[in-house]
Formats: sequence, C-alpha cells, structure tokens
Amino acid sequence: MSNKGQIALVTGGSRGIGSAIVEELSVAGYTVVINHRDSERDAKALADRIGESLVVRADVADPDAVRAMAEQVLGAYGRLDVLVNNAGATMPGDWRTLDPSAWRRCLEVNLTGVFRCIQVFGPILAGTGRGRIVNIGSTYAGMGVGAIAAYAAAKAGVASLTALFAKELAPEVTVNLVAPGNIDTAMTRSVGPEFVESVIAGTPLRRLGEPAEIAALVRFLVSGEASFITGQTVVSDGGHALK
Ligand code: NDP
Repeated sequence: MSNKGQIALVTGGSRGIGSAIVEELSVAGYTVVINHRDSERDAKALADRIGESLVVRADVADPDAVRAMAEQVLGAYGRLDVLVNNAGATMPGDWRTLDPSAWRRCLEVNLTGVFRCIQVFGPILAGTGRGRIVNIGSTYAGMGVGAIAAYAAAKAGVASLTALFAKELAPEVTVNLVAPGNIDTAMTRSVGPEFVESVIAGTPLRRLGEPAEIAALVRFLVSGEASFITGQTVVSDGGHALK
C-alpha cells in the first residue's frame, strides 16, 4: 500500500462518521489513531477490527488532553501525516432559552476543539512536508436553524478556520472542509423518526447519507490525487441545502 507507514488521527473516531473514516483510511494503508471521549469500548472494538492502530482518550475541548494526545501519538509513531477533525456533538437548544454554559460547551467541543487540534498538530503535520487536514463541518452552518444555533455557529467557525489554516500551513499542509448534510448516525436518529422523515422528504435524493460516503470524500482529500486542493468545501447532502 502506498500509504504504508503514514499515520492518520481521526478525532471522534469511535462511532458514526468517525468510525467509517477510520475504517476507510485503514483500508487505504494508513495506521490510524482512534480518538474518543466516552465510547472506549466502541473504539477498542474498532481497533481490534482494523489491526494496527492506537486508541487515545481525549476530550478535544480540553487543551491539556489535546496536548497529551499529541505526546501519545509522537511517542508511538514519531510523526503525523493526516488529521481529521471529526469529533462533534449537536447539543440542540433554542436560541431564546439557550443558557451561557450550554453555548460555551457547544463552541468548545465543535469549534475550539478543532482550533486546538490544528494548533497542536499543525506544526507536526507540516514537518512531513505533505500533511493533510480535513475538518468535518455541516451544511447546517449556513441554513439558519434556531434549534441548533450554537452548533451551526460553531460549524460556520470551522469553515473560517479551514480558510485560515489553508493559508497559514501552506505549502506543507492542505486543509479542506467536508460539509455533510443529514447522515445516518446516532446524531441524526436521536432527533427522532419525524425529523428523519421530514429530512428525507426535503432531500432531492430522498434518503439520508451513509457514513461511508463521507469517509470516501475524506480518503480522496488526504490522497496524493488531491494535492492541489486546499481551503475548499466539499458538500455531501443529497441536495438537501439547495435553495
Ligand atoms: P456521532 O454522535 O455518531 O459520533 C460523534 C463522535 O464524536 C463520537 O465518536 C464521539 O466520541 C465523538 N466526540 C463527541 N464529543 C467529543 C469530544 N468532546 N472529544 C472527543 N470526541 C468527541 O456523530 P456523527 O458521526 O454523526 O458526527 C460526526 C461529525 O460529523 C461531527 O462533527 C458532526 O457535527 C458532523 N456532522 C454530522 C452530521 C450527521 O447528519 N450525522 C451532519 C453534518 C455534520 P465518544 O462517543 O467517545 O464521546
């Protein structure tokens, strides 16, 4: 495999889209570091399935934990080639009643966590001369949905960080954003069957997306074939966000 010996870190790799990305990159030959916060059992089961890998517990919202994760990755492999900032949580709450701590926590996980991981891992990726960062955003960043005000604002911030770091880390690292629509994971299903039905009805392709469809985009963006793409957003939403 051409990617043999290359190391990829997937934050929130224990479940959902993250675990699909872990599997996809593992099949492509990368050694994958699986980050999780709560789902240790899922992360370890995934690691057993894919073979050589490292499981690291860290809350991406905790700067000390992100630094400790970097020490673990460098201690184990001495390098990092790919960072996928996938960890995230919707944390719904109507803007009228959203309390300050819920707002803060949502921004810390979905936006500050991405910033911290790039701040810590960006220079390490740059050291390889061909590092890759893929951030996972959301089409909801620009759709004006009041029930997920903090989450949408955080994801809009991730788009901003993508542009910023595409310039700051060039030419050694490319930085791109994958913006999924509604994907069939616990995050989407937990909203309830009525939400899922209404989303499918409002999606031109008439279904939810699959985690593997997002993982395939990530695999492309970290590959040599995407070497001249940076600062871009790739949307995969079945047409849901079309006006
Ligand atoms: P899931 O809820 O299925 O999985 C979320 C993952 O993120 C888990 O592995 C979880 O790990 C991890 N995670 C959550 N908070 C933290 C944290 N503070 N530190 C480290 N890991 C954390 O979500 P999805 O797979 O659906 O979503 C993955 C990404 O895709 C998210 O960024 C989400 O915003 C984005 N997205 C999802 C869409 C969808 O329709 N599903 C649409 C658009 C974007 P653990 O359980 O171990 O805590």
